[in-house]
Amino acid sequence: MSVELYDTLSRSIQTLAPSSSDTLRFYCCGPTVYGPAHIGNFRTFLIQDTLRRVLEVDGMAVKHVRNITDLDDKTIRRSLEEGKSLIEFTAYWTEKFHADCKALNMLSPSIEPSAVAHIPQQIALVEKLIEKGNAYATDDGSVYFRVGSFEDYGRLSRLKQRELKTQTENSAGEVNDADEYDRESVSDFALWKSCKDGDGDNYWSSPWGEGRPGWHLECSAMVDSAFDGETIDLHGGGIDLCFPHHENEIAQSECAHGHDFCKHWFHSAHLMVEGAKMSKSLGNLYTLDDLRDKGFSPMVVRYTLIAGSYRQQLNFTFDGLHASQSALTRFERFAEALLAKTGEASDQFNATYVTSGAPEDFGRLTKAWDALRSNLNTAACLGAIFGVIGSNPAASLGADGARSMLQTFGSLLYALGLELFTIEAKQPDAPKEIIALAQARWDAKQAKDWGKADEFRDELLAKGWTVNDSKDGFAIEPKE
Ligand code: AMP
Ligand code: ZN
Repeated sequence: MSVELYDTLSRSIQTLAPSSSDTLRFYCCGPTVYGPAHIGNFRTFLIQDTLRRVLEVDGMAVKHVRNITDLDDKTIRRSLEEGKSLIEFTAYWTEKFHADCKALNMLSPSIEPSAVAHIPQQIALVEKLIEKGNAYATDDGSVYFRVGSFEDYGRLSRLKQRELKTQTENSAGEVNDADEYDRESVSDFALWKSCKDGDGDNYWSSPWGEGRPGWHLECSAMVDSAFDGETIDLHGGGIDLCFPHHENEIAQSECAHGHDFCKHWFHSAHLMVEGAKMSKSLGNLYTLDDLRDKGFSPMVVRYTLIAGSYRQQLNFTFDGLHASQSALTRFERFAEALLAKTGEASDQFNATYVTSGAPEDFGRLTKAWDALRSNLNTAACLGAIFGVIGSNPAASLGADGARSMLQTFGSLLYALGLELFTIEAKQPDAPKEIIALAQARWDAKQAKDWGKADEFRDELLAKGWTVNDSKDGFAIEPKE
């Protein structure tokens, strides 16, 4: 079995394979760098990173391209507000994004192109689209894509023409300006925006006058540059990008090149807060730094964001973070028990075992590995790992058996992007003695020793702490 994934285009599970050459061409829409990325953004990027890791452990070469969106209404407006050049402003936030990615143990993409660095390519694409009759310039020096010229428009999102006309806002929050009155049709979208007041110095010369590319165009141009204009195998992004952004990418690229833009589409569901999408515009967001300040290590954040099914919305809660923290602690206990058999130290565990080299056979962890290859079912994978941990295999293993289980466990951790023994602060605010007591209660519960578990719970209560369980672990809180 190779890696299978749900493809939004065909609405079915597909086997991932490079269509030509032996490298999978994988493009992801990257961050808009006008502030810190929030953990909702990171849910999407981490899911993409995890898929890439699974593919690599499975033996596939992947060219992973993720762009930097450094040119849109928001980057321009914020840079002007701060009195900085666009380049200086976006370089700062790009650097911050990289630091967060590193802390979250994300692999660097093979290439990370930026929109500003691809202006000539974007202009050339617009020229081609005008030449082919798919785009037209207006009197004010803007250029629009003629949606009616592309029969397949709406194929990905399955929106009908009637519905398209009612969509007035794109996922970048750029409302189709009412003053764009010379568009032929309300669903036509901007490829080139003529320079207007409020753009500062952020305009470029073009055959249509000074201006800048529309947001959707950048990805079509960067995909061309990164993959030599060839059809790509997989394109990822949050579900909000499906329409209109990805639909527009398809229209631009397929009209310009006359061949398929991308074979499969990979969309991840949103991270939510109390029923609403976590987003900068709603202000209901947490950044990695916010959570670090509250005592949660990046590995705990990563675990939380990848643990659920990527096609289902995930509700962000602090209980969820606590549960991830104890799940990682259980992983560490498991690794320690195996390391005790091989005589190795835990500080060597990541370097020795958490590697991309896959074992020939995942042994008792086969179910966990198969779950990852089957539509990136991280929840089932983690469940299967806990199933094995619960049976306490270390007890009956010798050094060789323990070493091979460390190898399979380490490969799974690599695929999930998790490293152990890196937690910066375990259960925040709880004294060591309380954490040990809560862990002992959890262990008793796992061993189905309910009497003992209750005793530990009472002892915790007497000391002023309550403990809440979830499927994978426990969270400790001071009693109200
Ligand atoms: P942006 O920085 O707004 O361009 O978004 C970067 C990526 O984050 C895109 O793939 C978005 O679809 C994704 N995204 C934005 N908000 C969320 C969220 N709440 N949950 C998951 N992904 C998100
Ligand atoms: Zn894009």
